Amino acid sequence: MTRIPDLLSSGHTFSFEFFPPRTPEAEATLERTLVELAPLHPAFVSVTYGAGGSTRERTHDLVVDINRMTGMTAMAHLTCVGHTCADLEGIVARYRDAGIANILALGGDPPAGAELPPGELTYAVELVRLVRSVGDFAVGVAAHPEPHPRSPDLATDRRHTAEKLAEADFAITQFFFEAHHYFELVESLRDLGVDKPVIPGIMPVLSVGAIKRMTEMQGSDFPGWFEARLREVEDDPDAVRAVGIEEATKLCRSLLDGGAPGLHFYTLNRSTATREIHAQLDPA
Ligand SMILES: Cc1cc2nc3c(=O)[nH]c(=O)nc-3n(C[C@H](O)[C@H](O)[C@H](O)COP(=O)(O)OP(=O)(O)OC[C@H]3O[C@@H](n4cnc5c(N)ncnc54)[C@H](O)[C@@H]3O)c2cc1C
Repeated sequence: MTRIPDLLSSGHTFSFEFFPPRTPEAEATLERTLVELAPLHPAFVSVTYGAGGSTRERTHDLVVDINRMTGMTAMAHLTCVGHTCADLEGIVARYRDAGIANILALGGDPPAGAELPPGELTYAVELVRLVRSVGDFAVGVAAHPEPHPRSPDLATDRRHTAEKLAEADFAITQFFFEAHHYFELVESLRDLGVDKPVIPGIMPVLSVGAIKRMTEMQGSDFPGWFEARLREVEDDPDAVRAVGIEEATKLCRSLLDGGAPGLHFYTLNRSTATREIHAQLDPA
């Protein structure tokens, strides 16, 4: 069983995030994407978990299938939202029994409009403890380079992240568009006494329409200089895409040059952008 902390201690990791498909067409797209990304030999891949709704069971099946059938190491995301402790223990025990070694423990966001019970755990750090109580897992957590929207201020956010990461093995960040956000996060965690690996999350911007969605999703400003570059070419989708890939590649280079332990790509179940960036980086 491959454990992500072992991979991180032996060189840069290059990893991909997928979500469980909801339709047969989306399933076919993901299957194609997995085939296209396999030659890049990702250190691991991860599968998101929908807080509430029908994709929950699919996360389990997809993680187990990827591990068994593709030779890639798949990590399962899991969230506190809407679950009792007994639910969560049951889910984690199934992963343990299926030979899954890595879990990303998250607070979770209930989907808009969903009527979900609050759940028995409030914060991801509690889920880290629960996962460890069920089995010998490698446990990752989320980190937010620009503070989490529910945090009252940056210092409080950093303190909670440090406390959580101190109990976990590694973190993966929310996406961001300027490298200094990542380095400031890592530095403040070190100042708080935590130097576990923090893998930056990368989201290539491939359309102007995506800008608004992204800023809403992460509750922070999309950099003005980046938006201006995209707006200059907004009538030409290929040029917009090229700018997005170029900026994502520059960001990846700065992060690796500055000591990031790897790169985690939010693929949105597509392979092209990730493959293009990978080809330009040629990571070791
Ligand atoms: C790499 C990555 C993958 C993700 N995958 C998924 C997914 O698969 N499914 C999904 O639904 N969501 C996913 N998310 C989104 C995530 O669930 C949300 O960002 C969520 O709002 C917060 O999750 P968290 O794990 O950071 O929560 P927490 O660590 O619980 O933090 C949430 C808020 O509570 C505060 N806090 C933490 N601990 C305490 C404490 N002890 N006392 C007081 N306040 C505290 C934090 O500062 C923060 O403001 C992912 C995010 C990332 C970065």
